[in-house]
Amino acid sequence: MTSSAALRHAFLDYFAQRDHTPVASSPLIPGNDPTLLFTNAGMVQFKDVFLGREQREYRRAVTAQRCVRAGGKHNDLENVGYTARHHTFFEMLGNFSFGDYFKRDAIQYAWEFLTGVLKIPAERLWVTVFIDDDEAANIWLNDIGINPACFSRCGAKDNFWAMGDTGPCGPCSEIFYDHGPAIAGGPPGSPDADGDRYVEIWNLVFMQYDRASDGRLTALPRPSVDTGMGLERLAAVMQGVHSNYDIDLFQHLITAAMEVTGCRDRTHHSLRVIADHIRSTAFLVTDGVTPSNEGRGYVQRRIIRRAIRHGYQLGQHQPFFHRLVAPLVAVMGEAYPELAARAATVEQVLRVEEERFAETLSAGLKMLDDITASCICNTIPGEVIFKLYDTYGFPVDLTADVARERGLALNLAEFDDLMAQQKARARAASQFGANQSQVLDVTGETVFCGYERTRDAATVIALYLD
Ligand code: ATP
Ligand code: MG
Ligand code: MG
Ligand code: MG
Repeated sequence: MTSSAALRHAFLDYFAQRDHTPVASSPLIPGNDPTLLFTNAGMVQFKDVFLGREQREYRRAVTAQRCVRAGGKHNDLENVGYTARHHTFFEMLGNFSFGDYFKRDAIQYAWEFLTGVLKIPAERLWVTVFIDDDEAANIWLNDIGINPACFSRCGAKDNFWAMGDTGPCGPCSEIFYDHGPAIAGGPPGSPDADGDRYVEIWNLVFMQYDRASDGRLTALPRPSVDTGMGLERLAAVMQGVHSNYDIDLFQHLITAAMEVTGCRDRTHHSLRVIADHIRSTAFLVTDGVTPSNEGRGYVQRRIIRRAIRHGYQLGQHQPFFHRLVAPLVAVMGEAYPELAARAATVEQVLRVEEERFAETLSAGLKMLDDITASCICNTIPGEVIFKLYDTYGFPVDLTADVARERGLALNLAEFDDLMAQQKARARAASQFGANQSQVLDVTGETVFCGYERTRDAATVIALYLD
């Protein structure tokens, strides 16, 4: 069996031997882009290089980049526990050319690495290109000689990549692995492509154009390459398993999650959610994100609380989540020394959040149980969602997660109204002037709060002091 760690090394070595400079993973908080919630791809740390605003000593690079997709444009949080291939945290292996090589080399490297180095049978692979990209199609079909029956051209939704509304962009070519007919799902481009049978493993982006604000594309003088391959998905292929959760790295975490929750059913979806969430939350703390009621910190809080709720559902009503930090360090600390170095802080932050949420979780769940049991319809009323949010600290997506397991819908329109009313009340209260802006923060100390913080503070008060 090829371990995840060995695959990470193999990828880095393969490209290093082809003149790519190994560059360390950047943190999950993008240093160069305040509009981006989290680093969600390998190219993020090179954004300015692609744009020509920054020069590096190298024109080829290779990375194993830690990524989080749990908010913003790429949000896979709702997929976790439901698909075999999506995580909130994953590692993206990528090779980059900054105005150096282009389509032909990028395609040849990818094909050689998969079928030559890793010896993945060519007949299990499926390739897509952008509908108009004859150049890439020609390289795949004529130079590489792939089977035209395992090839399709797709539209812009999946096969045209853009950094933003303007700037560098271009067509991409995706490589899929066919996990076989026992698994539901059609080939890429077909109506039932959403299944888990054909899993996208590698995306090769050909940065070829500069998009102007009026939408016009002009050819870049020095086209570039940006690729990304999910390590966990590759490991599933190489370890002969279908689900990412069955790879070595996740199995260690799932074993640890079984120990700390007492759950004996290794395939329980709550264990998968917990194993996924310990990775994202631990790495987020490592990179400086702590739970709070806004922005990145609120995403962090939502993920932690979801994990705790899943542990509770498995019967573990004591703090358990922070105990997974040590097993995580055991499997990932070598590749990410920053995680190992901050393990004690990570444990502490997670523990505090667990203890805090423990005060309201069981009461909130009991309320939800009572209400859903007595509900005549199968929709959770907005008032209940609001009460859970406001009094029990249940982020809406946590309530939605419970609802999904029970086959219930949510009345989000009513919830949004109640939220708007609460904001209006907070605004009105803030008009009374400085004396009225004494609020309590989460630690229970009295703090002075100016106008800008009032909305926040109102939420905090509502969350903790109802
Ligand atoms: P999908 O269509 O499966 O959601 P994607 O097209 O959104 O994937 P890209 O943005 O092209 O993914 O990212 C490059 C690679 O990163 C993918 O080919 C895949 O191997 C991996 N990847 C993307 N999202 C995730 C995720 N949430 N968890 C694990 N791996 C992922
Ligand atoms: Mg996706
Ligand atoms: Mg895709
Ligand atoms: Mg893709």
